[in-house]
Amino acid sequence: MLAQPTASHFINGQYVEDTNGTPLPVIYPATGETVAQMYEATPEIIEQALSTAQAAQKEWAQRSGTERGRVLRRAADIIRERNRELSVLETYDTGKPLSETLYVDATSGADALEYFGGLAGSLTGEHIPLGQDWVYTIREALGLCVGIGAWNYPTQIACWKGAPALACGNSMVFKPSETTPLCALKVAEILHEAGLPAGVYNVIQGTGSVGAALVSDTRVDKVSLTGSVPTGKKIYASAAADMKHVTMELGGKSPLIIFDDADLENAVGGAILGNFYSSGQVCSNSTRVFVQEGLKDAFLKRLSERLATAQIGDPMDEATNFGPMVSQNQMAIVQRYIQIGQDEGANLVAGGKRMDREGFFLEPTVFADVTDDMTIAKEEIFGPVMSVLTFKDEDEAIARANETEFGLSAGVFTNDMTRAHRVIGRLEAGSCFINSYNDAPVEAPFGGVKASGVGRENSKEAIHHYSQVKSVYVRMGDVEAPF
Ligand code: NAD
Repeated sequence: MLAQPTASHFINGQYVEDTNGTPLPVIYPATGETVAQMYEATPEIIEQALSTAQAAQKEWAQRSGTERGRVLRRAADIIRERNRELSVLETYDTGKPLSETLYVDATSGADALEYFGGLAGSLTGEHIPLGQDWVYTIREALGLCVGIGAWNYPTQIACWKGAPALACGNSMVFKPSETTPLCALKVAEILHEAGLPAGVYNVIQGTGSVGAALVSDTRVDKVSLTGSVPTGKKIYASAAADMKHVTMELGGKSPLIIFDDADLENAVGGAILGNFYSSGQVCSNSTRVFVQEGLKDAFLKRLSERLATAQIGDPMDEATNFGPMVSQNQMAIVQRYIQIGQDEGANLVAGGKRMDREGFFLEPTVFADVTDDMTIAKEEIFGPVMSVLTFKDEDEAIARANETEFGLSAGVFTNDMTRAHRVIGRLEAGSCFINSYNDAPVEAPFGGVKASGVGRENSKEAIHHYSQVKSVYVRMGDVEAPF
């Protein structure tokens, strides 16, 4: 394998190993083979990472924003120069096809470093005149941030959390998912190559228990999680004990509403992007596709024609556009949901089976005639399973789309622009799409409402979640006290 990290952890500017930790084998999802060996952080490693990050933060925050930004932008350049090598590593970590990772993973990480690197020099406060007195505000770093990642976008998540945190003058200890531990280490290595002072961005490995130890440490000022709702609830509760700041990027069961005046080809394309990209392992996926009654047959026909052209196979072959699930465990979870869908009477119209080859490959799967009360319409599956539901009119579609605890994303396909904006305005979701699905440019805020999350990543919004405002009242005249 190319450019593999040389140890499990990256602390204080260097790779660190401690084989006393529980072994964490890295399994290539396309073959089931072990391609690397990592070790879970021991209490000593956790302590090293936290104390190092706390010590390094003050000096980093004292640098000018322009200087901090320059480091981030240099790291973005290095990532782009090494895109292919990093994309191959991402494919080993996740199993996602190279035809995706070459365009989406390291590149979106670089976008975040470039964007927040560019903003770092303009993080200013305000001057608020009050007659002869005045108030000024200072935007300050929070301090020591902990980032905890999911396994579907390991490079992107490491950068989406690291870039705004570092731009604002924070330090970070990042814990990737135990399923995909490799890519964040390369991000740390490249940040240091770009000139980041030792200790400002550290990566340690481990399962939830390492994450929990980081979250509960009193030195930590902020926790940013990308993960499931149950994990988010635990971390939010633990962080509340010390009033830590949080960003929660959690799961979803997002609706895509397709009206019968929509461009069919684009609507089918949107539904494919929203269900089968990264083998369906995307938090914002539109797993509830509401199709207006009159369009149902044409939609399903065109969908199955296009599904038949999917290139499923070796993720390293650039012609492949659909790869395996990330792990045996995730595949088993999805297979269980497919069985439940059939047991509860949904109509399986495509896929549904594990593929007859090595690795964790599941067919792209479509259920039609799904009803709102079915388990597959209510719970996040996090795999290549699309549920197609039908509706009669706009009000009904909106009410049913909102009938969920989640609120990450939502989409609408229609050629009636008035309706498109009206419907989006009434949908309870944080990241929405009109005649498109799953675009996530760094310039746009990303995040959920309801159980899907707290806070926003990307865009200028993220700055508010990695900094705080100090206000200073300045009196120019005498103080008038009552006695
Ligand atoms: P997960 O919740 O099982 O784990 C996420 C991370 O939290 C992992 O690093 C894990 O080790 C850690 N963790 C687990 N328990 C912990 C605890 N008690 N304390 C601290 N850390 C703990 O999620 P996953 O299976 O890795 O990822 C899939 C989930 O992530 C899905 O629900 C998906 O929707 C969500 N996700 C959300 C976004 C988003 O931006 N909203 C993006 C990607 C994935």
